[in-house]
Amino acid sequence: MAGIVVPRFELFIDGQWKAPIHGNRIPVIDPATEQIVGDIPAGTSEDVDVAVKAARAAFSRNKGQDWARAPGKVRAQYLRAISAKVLERKEELARLEALDCGKPVDEAAWDMDDVSGCFEYYADLAEALDDKNYATLEIPLDKFKSNVLKEPIGVVGLITPWNYPLLMAAWKVAPALAAGCTAILKPSELASVTCLKFASIMQDVGLPPGVFNVITGLGPTAGAPLASHPGVDKLAFTGSTSTGRMIMTAAAQNIKPISLELGGKSPIIIFDDVDVEKAVEWTMFGAFWTNGQICSATSRLLLQESIAPSFLKKLVEWTESIKVTHPLDKDCRLGPIVSEAQYKKVLKYISNAQAEGAKLLCGGKRPAHLERGYFVSATVLGNVTPSMQIWKEEVFGPVLSVTTFNTEEEALELANDSSYGLAGAVISKDTERCKRVSEALQVGIVWINCSQPVFVQAPWGGTKCSGFGRELGEWGLENYLSVKQVTRYISDDAW
Ligand code: NAD
Repeated sequence: MAGIVVPRFELFIDGQWKAPIHGNRIPVIDPATEQIVGDIPAGTSEDVDVAVKAARAAFSRNKGQDWARAPGKVRAQYLRAISAKVLERKEELARLEALDCGKPVDEAAWDMDDVSGCFEYYADLAEALDDKNYATLEIPLDKFKSNVLKEPIGVVGLITPWNYPLLMAAWKVAPALAAGCTAILKPSELASVTCLKFASIMQDVGLPPGVFNVITGLGPTAGAPLASHPGVDKLAFTGSTSTGRMIMTAAAQNIKPISLELGGKSPIIIFDDVDVEKAVEWTMFGAFWTNGQICSATSRLLLQESIAPSFLKKLVEWTESIKVTHPLDKDCRLGPIVSEAQYKKVLKYISNAQAEGAKLLCGGKRPAHLERGYFVSATVLGNVTPSMQIWKEEVFGPVLSVTTFNTEEEALELANDSSYGLAGAVISKDTERCKRVSEALQVGIVWINCSQPVFVQAPWGGTKCSGFGRELGEWGLENYLSVKQVTRYISDDAW
């Protein structure tokens, strides 16, 4: 794409750029043109080892200069400087993100605002740690005094996916650094460029060497050694449920705490008392934002039978008008799927659904005006039943499956009949009903009369096969803190 060059980066270890020990690189492919536009280093276990040693040294350097023991307000200054630099380079970062993972550049720009906001937010929490530490407990015996000390967990391994490359990294890096941990980030091999660019921001703000490291590379050869490294004290993972299982197995070998943000197949329940146009807008936003490649995408639409015909007519009409083009075009609203493999997977899900009896209401293929690129038009499948693969499995593309219901009870049964439990949405004018439904949904996040808003202050995470642990808010910081009880016996004797 004219006017944008993917910079050549090496691995970022101990504050320096280091070529991977085995010298291999992975091509960066623009999913809109299928052209190679750059490459990234392919780190391996040897590189991981060097990065873990650097992070350990930064965590517990002698001479009182270490990151872990720096006051929270000192760490906060770095976090604020990072936040400001991200905003300063927002446009450049957004364009690289759009080119690398295919999301519309306007959406990528919003992501950069969120990245910046995330560092700002955790700067405040880092400062607050200074006051809150050594909290005194109320205990029944006055000969004892008991305190709770919160300490950084140590060296953390952070493994992230490609759909929000820099934002998913920020959700982990910001609280980890705020807590006083040092980190090794392993971004997705399908979209690592902005995470490497971000490392240069860490250099610019003068972050002490070793506090933040980036190892790019493939899952089995760079992610797996990080997950199983005995020198890593905690793992935070966002990605698919199948990889999450492997991370959990690896962590078990060293009894390592983990947090897992995994896949989803979230329902959106629409009752017949809604304003149809507003509900269609939220449905489209929930299903097609970021090309439908969102873990929390509300990709199962449950429609109350009586409004189904009018709702679907509007939904299809508006979905067909979504502008599909190169993500760097300012008016792009739906870009390509991230990779050829994922593109083929999405198309296979659509054809399997049709073979099982689902009706293709719109989309289902690359739009006719585009000759190449991993584009799939926004797709709506009707007549979907709960036994179909498309109803049960995460597609991770712009594909919405629709079924209908008659009663609230039936809607809840359909919504909860899933191995996933990340998010759910309910749209109705009846506030009591919305409250009932929000309490009954077996998920970690419920949206009422909307879908997908995310706030850095609010806990994020799922239940069932969508994982455990919560990111964002105070919960996100707790992920990187270890709780220590300190109890003192108060004696009159001098010992
Ligand atoms: P993925 O599981 O294929 O890869 C995620 C990361 O794990 C990548 O960095 C990859 O290189 C690494 N990895 C792969 N194999 C590994 C191994 N054996 N050991 C260690 N690391 C390994 O996921 P993806 O395709 O990049 O992302 C899409 C998935 O992420 C979807 O399922 C989506 O729902 C999920 N996701 C969840 C959330 C959430 O907050 N719950 C957010 C975004 C994405």
